[in-house]
Amino acid sequence: MSREQQAVQHARKAFLTGRSKPLDYRIKQLQNFKRFIKEKTTDIASAMRKDLHKTANATQLFEILGLEGEINLAVSKLAEWAAPRPVNKNLLTIADDVYIQPEPLGVVLIIGAWNYPITVTLQPLVGAIAAGNAAVVKPSEVSSHTAKVMELLSLYLDPEMYQVVTGGVAETQELLKQRFDHIFYTGSSTVGKLVMEAAAHHLTPVTLELGGKSPCYIDKNCDIRIACRRITWGKYMNCGQTCIAPDYILCESSIQDKVINEIQKCIQEFYTNDPKSFEDYGRIINQRHFKRIMALTEGSTVAIGGDSDESECYIAPTVLRDVTPGSKVMQEEIFGPILPIVIVNGLKEAIQFINEREKPLALYIFSSSKKVIKQMISETSSGALVANDCLVHFTISDLPFGGVGNSGTGCYHGKYSFDQLSHLRSCLIKKLNMEGVNQMRYPPHTTEKLRWARVLLLKQVNLARWRRVAQVAMFAALAAFVVQRFLRR
Ligand code: NAD
Repeated sequence: MSREQQAVQHARKAFLTGRSKPLDYRIKQLQNFKRFIKEKTTDIASAMRKDLHKTANATQLFEILGLEGEINLAVSKLAEWAAPRPVNKNLLTIADDVYIQPEPLGVVLIIGAWNYPITVTLQPLVGAIAAGNAAVVKPSEVSSHTAKVMELLSLYLDPEMYQVVTGGVAETQELLKQRFDHIFYTGSSTVGKLVMEAAAHHLTPVTLELGGKSPCYIDKNCDIRIACRRITWGKYMNCGQTCIAPDYILCESSIQDKVINEIQKCIQEFYTNDPKSFEDYGRIINQRHFKRIMALTEGSTVAIGGDSDESECYIAPTVLRDVTPGSKVMQEEIFGPILPIVIVNGLKEAIQFINEREKPLALYIFSSSKKVIKQMISETSSGALVANDCLVHFTISDLPFGGVGNSGTGCYHGKYSFDQLSHLRSCLIKKLNMEGVNQMRYPPHTTEKLRWARVLLLKQVNLARWRRVAQVAMFAALAAFVVQRFLRR
């Protein structure tokens, strides 16, 4: 039996004991998870430095804080999320208990990517634990140092219930042959298709957190200086290797020079005149990706940056000007510090440009006109839309994070992670009395019964409203009683 098969079997066996169902158990695991982050902070930071040239503070800021926040939220809200959720009833079921009961799915496979290896691998695990599942976690082999640290999770979590399997493509493929109850995959759309194909074999539901080209439209009617500060931050963070980074800019030719000028100033301010030796500027993950990104710039005009050093996987923050839609850099997700500017003739053309391509994971618009922003929202589709900033939607646990179409399926963060990895079971509990009410549905199906069915089935009963009405009535009766006694005196 392969190591992967064994991991799945152990997780399944542990799940079937039922010990992950009580909320106390889940909370204990989440608290241990938090202890792992605290006690292994130094190991995580040094692994991230080796993998992506991140500083300890950047690791805290962009990997650890979010994970900690998700754990805290799950611990404090778990009882509420896991509780039965009453629903509105019809008259036919008025006397029944009707509710949704979230229940664990079983064994979840989590396959992570390398760009924010802690965030994209361990945040879904928070949801899996909170929802009462067992999990097999497969960190990306590309960020190998961080993957090694994640193996230490077995010292903190129930080691049978939560398995970490390290390895490369062969190991992932072996895992994908096994039967899971859900697969949560983060990575490229190309591999996403392979994951979905493997999942289909067992009819396993999937969450696919994919990527793509996220457009960024700059309206000429906006504060271009501020817009460029936020875009520069969003683009060059983690050396452009962020799934929701603005992939390219769309703007009118009249503002292109100003945009280039402002981005240049921001690059100097954020990363100095020498980003290569500045400690907060990252590196490309490996030489394969370095070569891929450099090849994308062929045939385009460099406006800022452009220099690189293969031996260090360094690519300077770069802007390309007057990029044509047919150029190499516009054919795939860049996932590196190259920012092409494509000229469009106003909002209408920008919308058309976006709609002619795959639905993006994020769509950014910079404008001081509410009307322009509204038009972009109503005439396009994307995983998320952010106006006048970049990336920050990721930090809000109440927003579902995920793509649409080619950029992904399903979502997570906060309660969405819990729901995504739960089965929302419909429950209707009837008593065995009041059989007379049921006559209406038994044969023969007479016209009189049909008339009753219309009333009983089509009338929705909002119990919360009735409760409120009853409370108001009681309060009014009490007030009348008090007033009457007062007047009698
Ligand atoms: P990657 O190479 O680390 O692959 C991701 C996972 O897929 C790894 O665990 C790897 O083992 C596995 N894998 C790779 N090839 C495989 C194959 N042929 N068969 C089976 N498994 C295979 O990561 P990547 O794909 O380079 O990640 C970058 C992509 O991920 C970008 O497109 C980015 O936008 C996207 N991404 C999306 C999100 C999101 O939240 N939506 C987050 C991060 C990254």
